[in-house]
Amino acid sequence: MAKANTPHIAIIPSPGMGHLIPFVELAKRLVEHDCFTVTLIISSESSPSKAQKSVLNSLPSSIASVFLPPADLSDVPSTARIETRVMLTMTRSNPALRELFGSLSTKKRLPAVLVVDMFGTDAFDVAVDFHVSPYIFYASNANVLSFFLHLPKLDETVSCEFRYLNEPVKIPGCVPVTGKDFLDTVQDRNDDAYKLLLHNTKRYKEAKGILVNSFVDLEPNAIKALQEPAPDKPPVYPIGPLVNTSSSDVNVENKSECLDWLDKQPFGSVLYISFGSGGTLSLEQFNELALGLAESDKRFIWAIRSPSGVASSSYFNPHSQTDPFSFLPIGFLDRTKEKGLVVRSWAPQVQILAHPSTCGFLTHCGWNSTLESIVNGVPLIAWPLFAEQKMNALLLVEDVGAGLRIHAGGDGIVRREEVVRVVKGLMEGEEGKAIGNKMKELKQGVVKGLGDDGFSTKSFSELLLKWKDHQREINQETSH
Ligand code: UDP
Repeated sequence: MAKANTPHIAIIPSPGMGHLIPFVELAKRLVEHDCFTVTLIISSESSPSKAQKSVLNSLPSSIASVFLPPADLSDVPSTARIETRVMLTMTRSNPALRELFGSLSTKKRLPAVLVVDMFGTDAFDVAVDFHVSPYIFYASNANVLSFFLHLPKLDETVSCEFRYLNEPVKIPGCVPVTGKDFLDTVQDRNDDAYKLLLHNTKRYKEAKGILVNSFVDLEPNAIKALQEPAPDKPPVYPIGPLVNTSSSDVNVENKSECLDWLDKQPFGSVLYISFGSGGTLSLEQFNELALGLAESDKRFIWAIRSPSGVASSSYFNPHSQTDPFSFLPIGFLDRTKEKGLVVRSWAPQVQILAHPSTCGFLTHCGWNSTLESIVNGVPLIAWPLFAEQKMNALLLVEDVGAGLRIHAGGDGIVRREEVVRVVKGLMEGEEGKAIGNKMKELKQGVVKGLGDDGFSTKSFSELLLKWKDHQREINQETSH
């Protein structure tokens, strides 16, 4: 509960685990170290998934959580992109948010600050009406944030679909990116998802500040450029990496199974494979990956989900409705039983990445997964699927040198030979060693950045000071 002199911060992630997890970490950091009071506001279009509930149940009692009533999306076609659903959920939760702020105001418990998600800027309307300071927590990296800030200008100056641009787009401090590598959401400019995203990015300038989940050793140039003052660009605070340090026990059974199995494997011998909280592969792709893993003859833990034609189909619910084991190629489990462990839907990722037996991570390059790997110094194989993952892969492979990129053939399928090539390349090749060394460097960069004098720590402290001052001003105003 908010005490009069304790700064009270409200935070509102967008639906989906990939956004909930870093927002919960932000909340924890605020209450643990800085005596803030935090209210976590959950918006949704249906009741929370098992995975979300498990994260929310693990919250310390000092973090209050409020569930807004589900937003009505009954008019939205089932074929709409997930980003459309996510952004509409946020916008259509505004009346409920307004009601909540009204009741908090009556109780004199209004927050001083409202931190919204990258997709939730319409909540600024409510914040401003209640004189609450609006901020964004951008739960991705500084390169992609720079792209979002640049999108309104791109929209004005480019008339074709971005994939037809002849030249890569160069944004100050960022890795040049070709139109076809832009995030999925902007690949069809007639789609509602594009229009809603553009609308959100146009509102970024209204924020009092943007927190970004990255750190200076990872993206020195992009962060430097973002911190140059410019009109219509709010101050940017790189406060990362803010990562999940203890996997929620979404599937306790899997947890001990994975960790016991890892305990029995040689040091630095296991590749972990996961496509995040919601990524899925087509049946053909799922098969090719399985056969490639078997052929590589390396040790692995693979968190599998039932195949689907839509890569983001499990975004709102990580657990497969059908048994994913039934899709594995015949004989696969037998063939790999000495070296591999396959788990259903959800693995204790944070513990796996921190385990000494783990030496690599084949990932879809979701930003939380990427940071969790970096924090543990685990080299990556980049297999982006949807959202901004291609941009993340570009940054990690081409710019940072933290991973190997897997390549699909002309039909869009990554063949088993390619799986074998990258898995061996990472686990036994010279290139793999260089990537391992880069990861060790980055891990040290994390420790430095989060140390007492670290860049991220200072950035966070500067922000908290602002918030404390703001709360003091509010208290003075209300006491007159
Ligand atoms: N995660 C996990 N076990 C799994 C899959 C995912 O603990 O089997 C967690 C992972 O540790 C990370 C988050 O879910 O914190 C996934 O976020 P990310 O940004 O990587 O991808 P998204 O799920 O948003 O695509």
